[in-house]
Amino acid sequence: MTMPRRLLIEQGGPGHRGPALPACDVPVRPLAERLPGVRLRETLRLPQVSEPEVVRHFIELSTLNHHIDRGLYPLGSCTMKHNPKINDELAVLPGFALAHPLAPDEANQGALSVIVELERALAEITGFAAVSTQPAAGAQGEMTGLLMIRAWHRARGQGEPRRRVIVPDSAHGTNPASVHLVGYETVTIPSEAHGTVDLDALRAALDHRTAAVMLTVPNTLGIFEARIRDITRLAHEAGAQVYMDGANLNALVGMVRPGDLGFDVMHINLHKTFSTPHGGGGPGAGPVAVAAHLEPFLPAPRVVERDGLLRMDHDREHSVGRVHGFHGNFGILVRALVYLSTLGPAGLTEASRTAILNANYLMRRLSQSFELPHPEHCMHEFVLSGRALRKHGVKTLDVAKRLLDFGVHAPTVYFPLIVEEALMIEPTETETLDRLDHFAAAMERIAREAAETPQLLLDAPLTTPVSRLDEGRAARELKLHWGGARQAAQGPVQEASSRA
Ligand SMILES: *Cc1c(COP(=O)(O)O)cnc(C)c1O
Repeated sequence: MTMPRRLLIEQGGPGHRGPALPACDVPVRPLAERLPGVRLRETLRLPQVSEPEVVRHFIELSTLNHHIDRGLYPLGSCTMKHNPKINDELAVLPGFALAHPLAPDEANQGALSVIVELERALAEITGFAAVSTQPAAGAQGEMTGLLMIRAWHRARGQGEPRRRVIVPDSAHGTNPASVHLVGYETVTIPSEAHGTVDLDALRAALDHRTAAVMLTVPNTLGIFEARIRDITRLAHEAGAQVYMDGANLNALVGMVRPGDLGFDVMHINLHKTFSTPHGGGGPGAGPVAVAAHLEPFLPAPRVVERDGLLRMDHDREHSVGRVHGFHGNFGILVRALVYLSTLGPAGLTEASRTAILNANYLMRRLSQSFELPHPEHCMHEFVLSGRALRKHGVKTLDVAKRLLDFGVHAPTVYFPLIVEEALMIEPTETETLDRLDHFAAAMERIAREAAETPQLLLDAPLTTPVSRLDEGRAARELKLHWGGARQAAQGPVQEASSRA
């Protein structure tokens, strides 16, 4: 029997204590005496709970939802891989975690050197001249890249005619959103049969009004765009810049450098490629890497070395300015640098190769029980279609829900939009053959269930704390506040006096 779930404030009771502290041996002075004129609450309602109660409460909460430390999380396009715990440990070292962004540069040399070293490593990996770690997410990196492209066109007197950005129809939704944010217009071009860019459509769309072409590599079908050099050449001949959405860099590290392919600027999702999975919406980091001609436009301030000291350089005439308060999501930068340093060049290449191998293994095996619209070799992810299940009255969403009963998070569903009933699967390099086989066996069983017992899929998940939710209402009528009816039925709480 499961216990009814209670909030911490509904548990415990008088006398339940947290850590046992020695008796106070210094004089006690009421807070109000020390803060004259400050209005303090008379009482503060706090739970009165013991340490085991608190620990059990949070451990139980951690098991209610699926997460990467519980099981496979093959969320295509999001690269949910294991975050080595050493990365977390080093990121919370007091020298990093307590570094104050307003401390003088002299006192922050260690933190600033993390930024400089990471920027150098990312420049080396991507083949670009310079990197800024300031943007806090992939989408913000896109916006920053487009701002730099806009500044570059303006500096050349081309700001006015060039206001269009060509984006293939397979792109992530953030691409057109970023285009809109910088005041540009999106021109969508279709993909051809292999899901790659239709060069004729690109040629027809390029003209004197084109500011940039945005390309995701590998694309959202997990396929490597074989004619990138043609694409970057055509764009440059038309006077446009080429942006690479590098969120899928996990497939390329150590094998291909975007800077060598003719791109002008890209962003990197540290939280996808270099540790720090981002379930729950954050935090992340989306550094931008640029070719030499865009370096003057990078966000300010930059960390530079002067007189043997690392300093923040704010004096950058052509910069697009700040895109983040202080230095970006610093903890994520530390994790990325630890990850890069522990794996080294050979280890990073091996990680990408294994990610590709795992994806191809699953793709070939699952193509026997699901439709595979694009059967060419994939990179780090691939896309199946659940279209054939319709005849049993079952949808891709039902497959996704049923997977939870096997301890597997759903793949990305209904994206990319160019595949009907899409299931976008990315196992990553961190899963063993044993776990890949478990996932494949679950998918195969679900395919059989769809034909034999479809109602089971429509009712799934059956083993999770809650089953199907009204997702529209769950998003719009979020109840995050403790109170109302529950307050009346509350357990014992401590009336802690703020004067104590
Ligand atoms: C994740 C992703 C983005 C956006 O990155 P965020 O960090 O979520 O803002 C952009 N493009 C692609 C292809 C992605 O997979």
